[in-house]
Amino acid sequence: MENCVFCKIAAGEIPSAKVYEDDEIVIFKDIEPKAKIHLLCVPRAHFATLAEADGERTALLARALAKIGRLAPDLGLAEGYRLVVNQGENAGQTVMHLHIHILGGEPLAWE
Ligand code: AMP
Ligand code: ZN
Repeated sequence: MENCVFCKIAAGEIPSAKVYEDDEIVIFKDIEPKAKIHLLCVPRAHFATLAEADGERTALLARALAKIGRLAPDLGLAEGYRLVVNQGENAGQTVMHLHIHILGGEPLAWE
């Protein structure tokens, strides 16, 4: 989608520190990390929220979660990690292209 920063990163039109990519997803470093390791898993397909997840998008998200699980050790996350999906204003979603935050690399507070 035009003027979407994550579509542009996925297409390689603006730079990012990519750590993984395939035909469905890209994973790159968050520009403002909130943990020692803070990655973003972004589907190449543009949609903003889970409410827009139809059958194919739901299957895509399931595959993305499974891939994160398989890739975790290679991403420095063997000791554990947290996934976060901000949805809408109250959650502070700023990029309206669905993305999964991957946080880890250190013990994470949970309060
Ligand atoms: P959210 O608040 O869930 O919408 O998260 C958006 C995230 O994207 C924030 O953590 C930002 O730091 C991150 N972000 C925004 N622009 C970029 C960029 N060009 N490269 C990497 N991360 C970005
Ligand atoms: Zn997009």
